[in-house]
Amino acid sequence: MKILLKYTLISFCFLNFLPGIYGQSNHSYWQQHVDYQMEVDFDVENFQYTGTQKLTYTNNSPEEISKVYYHMYFNAFQPGSEMDIRLQNIPDPDPRMFVDGQSRIANLKPEEIGYLNATSLEQDGVKLEYSLEGTVLVVKLAKAIPAGGKATFDMNFEGQVPIQIRRSGRDNAEGIALSMVQWYPKLAEYDFEGWHVDPYIGREFHGVWGDFDVKLTLDKTYVVGASGYLQNPQEVGHGYEEAGSKLKKVRGNKLTWHFKAPQVHDFMWAADPEYIHDTLEISDGPTLHFLYKNKPELLENWKNLQSKTADAMSFFNQNIGLYPYKQYSVIQGGDGGMEYAMGTLITGERTFGSLVGVMVHELAHSWFQHVLATNELKHSWMDEGFTTFISSLCMNEIMEQNKENPFENSYASYYGLVSVGKEQPQSTHADRYAFNSAYSTAAYSKGSIFLSQLGYVVGQEKLMESLRQYYADFQFKHPTPNDIIRTVEKVSDMELDWYLIDWTQTTNTIDYGIKSVVAEGDKTRITLERIGLMPMPLDILVVYNDDSRETFYTPLRMMHGEKENPYNSLQRTVLDDWPWAYPSFEYVIDKPLGSIKAVVIDPSQLMADINFANNIWQKAQ
Ligand SMILES: [Zn+2]
Repeated sequence: MKILLKYTLISFCFLNFLPGIYGQSNHSYWQQHVDYQMEVDFDVENFQYTGTQKLTYTNNSPEEISKVYYHMYFNAFQPGSEMDIRLQNIPDPDPRMFVDGQSRIANLKPEEIGYLNATSLEQDGVKLEYSLEGTVLVVKLAKAIPAGGKATFDMNFEGQVPIQIRRSGRDNAEGIALSMVQWYPKLAEYDFEGWHVDPYIGREFHGVWGDFDVKLTLDKTYVVGASGYLQNPQEVGHGYEEAGSKLKKVRGNKLTWHFKAPQVHDFMWAADPEYIHDTLEISDGPTLHFLYKNKPELLENWKNLQSKTADAMSFFNQNIGLYPYKQYSVIQGGDGGMEYAMGTLITGERTFGSLVGVMVHELAHSWFQHVLATNELKHSWMDEGFTTFISSLCMNEIMEQNKENPFENSYASYYGLVSVGKEQPQSTHADRYAFNSAYSTAAYSKGSIFLSQLGYVVGQEKLMESLRQYYADFQFKHPTPNDIIRTVEKVSDMELDWYLIDWTQTTNTIDYGIKSVVAEGDKTRITLERIGLMPMPLDILVVYNDDSRETFYTPLRMMHGEKENPYNSLQRTVLDDWPWAYPSFEYVIDKPLGSIKAVVIDPSQLMADINFANNIWQKAQ
């Protein structure tokens, strides 16, 4: 039905945010706070490091705290770890981690594994007892921290960077020496749901907001990119502009790189002796940093990437809200693409389209994860899905893709998963999907459709207004599913709890159909049916023999509201509400059957109807 699709007239209208209309109403919200001061001494020959960490913890909860937990992520990269065993038991293991039928973690030698251990720990000068349980350090406090109180934890730690297997590691596939993520003892988050001490199996982000002050001491020949602002560009021997060529001559000594990252919930760094380091100033925006390997074949793509990054930054600034930091770094490293505070690690040996695609996705995560810090393990659709949604719109614009439906890949992937019967609800814990593919479709594709389809329900302008409002209200917090749906409810003046429940907590599907189109004297009676369990409002397009068109709209009764006419140029008739429990709905058009060429439910196809074939009625030829 390509011919009908061009009448979808999807228009994403980008209005400026009007502050102060819908404030956050959840006055009982609180969140913990951490300030990290770390000094790390790194040996680039054996990939081992030692560090000190002074962590000031503020207990903003209404309760006393008598224990704390730290994530010690690098311990996942050891034979027999939960990450290793899961890899050996999931039917579709990540091919980066599982080669020739074997877990790469299972085969690591002692000098290749990752580890991170506390060697001493004190609370306000008093020695603490602690035990390491997999990737989690369990700490019993010497003195409980009262509600509103503070404690300072001093830890000495030692670590070894694993061979690059997933996200972090040494010597990645493109020869980047150090991709340093999940590398330091990281305090677990405690919030209204209690402690979040998930073992490191697959996903990781749910951290405590705070300020980081990090000093990294390593071989002078290395160039470092990191989450924070460099404090000592002169001391490290160059103005943080030119890469290592002239520094290589002084091999043997170490340099200390001092970074500060305010108001983040994670700290990443990467280093390589052959990094080229370019910067690009955006007017009224952050400085963009690019660090990539000095290889002739990379130069053209990585130079051209820079203006595209600026384009993407301004697209997100305009459509979600202003990026709040003064710096963003695109760093070659890691094993694909992964978002971090104030930067990303991406692999760099790609076609230009793929390089831009991965940059856009990871940059979008600066909004949907690193400023709107949802718990990725519980609600991965809120960061991966919303990121996929906004990056699809961004790619369509900055790469001039001109797609009629920029989200078509997400819909195709969701329909594919439904058809093979492997779907699990989006509310499944990210580590507990039976298949990796079921996780990624639920998080990325169905998560993106959560928004694109919500645009169909409430109208595209209301959806985009809701996103800007959500960003304004929940930045630097940990928003939950209820926060996004309440924001859309307030902006659209509709009741949408049914949408959140069915789409995110069940595998109910949407299937509406045209049951019959029959003559009734000079008029025509159209009967629609609801086949799937999930309710939706319907847009119905009627095309006449002379190619004139009009639309009809059946709001869902339980929305208690109506969207504006999405097809500005077409006449729309608002029909009665369709109460969900009724399996069918009838209405009469004041035109003879012989004048009607076609009837189509949702020509935009933004409603994820699993069987579009029965959405179309066409006059027999
Ligand atoms: Zn992502």
